[in-house]
Amino acid sequence: MRPYDFTRPGSVRGALAEAHAGSAYLAGGTTLVDLMKLEVLAPSRVVDINRLPFDGITVDSDGLHIGALERMSDVAADQAVRTGFPMISQALELSASPQLRNMASMGGNLLQRTRCSYFRDLTTPCNKRTPGSGCAALTGHNRMHAVLGTSEACVATHPSDVAVALVALDARVHLEGRDGDRTVALADFYRLPGQTPQVENDLRPGELITGLTVPPLPWASRSLYLKIRDRQSYEFALTSVAVALDLDGARIRGARVAAGGVGTRPWRLGAVEQALVGRTATPDTYEAVVASVAEDARTLPHNVFKPALLRRTLVRALVTLGGRS
Ligand code: SF4
Repeated sequence: MRPYDFTRPGSVRGALAEAHAGSAYLAGGTTLVDLMKLEVLAPSRVVDINRLPFDGITVDSDGLHIGALERMSDVAADQAVRTGFPMISQALELSASPQLRNMASMGGNLLQRTRCSYFRDLTTPCNKRTPGSGCAALTGHNRMHAVLGTSEACVATHPSDVAVALVALDARVHLEGRDGDRTVALADFYRLPGQTPQVENDLRPGELITGLTVPPLPWASRSLYLKIRDRQSYEFALTSVAVALDLDGARIRGARVAAGGVGTRPWRLGAVEQALVGRTATPDTYEAVVASVAEDARTLPHNVFKPALLRRTLVRALVTLGGRS
């Protein structure tokens, strides 16, 4: 690990003043410290933001508000989250390990870096780590990599589970920087890799995530996060889906659907949502509406199974939520 300055400001203004080119904010540290040890990241200054007032989990007429410094385990255990938005709790509890969930912040979760192994290996080319150096995953071991939203420069999947649920729920992320505060839709916050995979999101230099808001959606109480992975704990998704269904008897009135483990960012499946509305909740319906999902996927030699696995994951989630009526 390279030497760095350390500071722990007590105010948002102080934190913004401490940030400069080459500095990094520290919350839970579960990604940052890892990458500093590997020297994938080498900030000259670490700005500890844990004294900032970005906490709280509240519900009001605007929806569910979650402070950026709330820990994953606390959000997962919150009763309002568990009952009103089960897919959020489930996505959090299916992430990482209990120890990591106790440390990792919600803001940090949204900003976590890819788990592509080549990104963490300084001996291999990686356009995300060293722009212009190439992409070792294209000809390497690419079983975990993305099939949607990829480019010739990068095929890394977005690693967050809870971001998939939040994108399905139209969550908004609140940001604060030297030029003031702003709010953006989480779905628009993440960028596709294109030719600049090192630019992963819309965060401006020095800007902080202060919190996020999930708009009211009463029928999100019928929601599910289903994650398919190689082992049942402490593993990233091969595929995952966040699904909410609004049912009137056996008729589907509304649906929210997003996928993880397959895209370079959390992947909303709006066409599936539209196709479900007005249909009867039966396995035949589910099979029909997912038939064309990921038909434009660009697979790699080791992940050709992902589009079919994604469709099966979707059907299983829909059967679990909507039943076999
Ligand atoms: Fe780097 Fe992206 Fe290629 Fe992985 S997939 S080696 S993160 S450029």
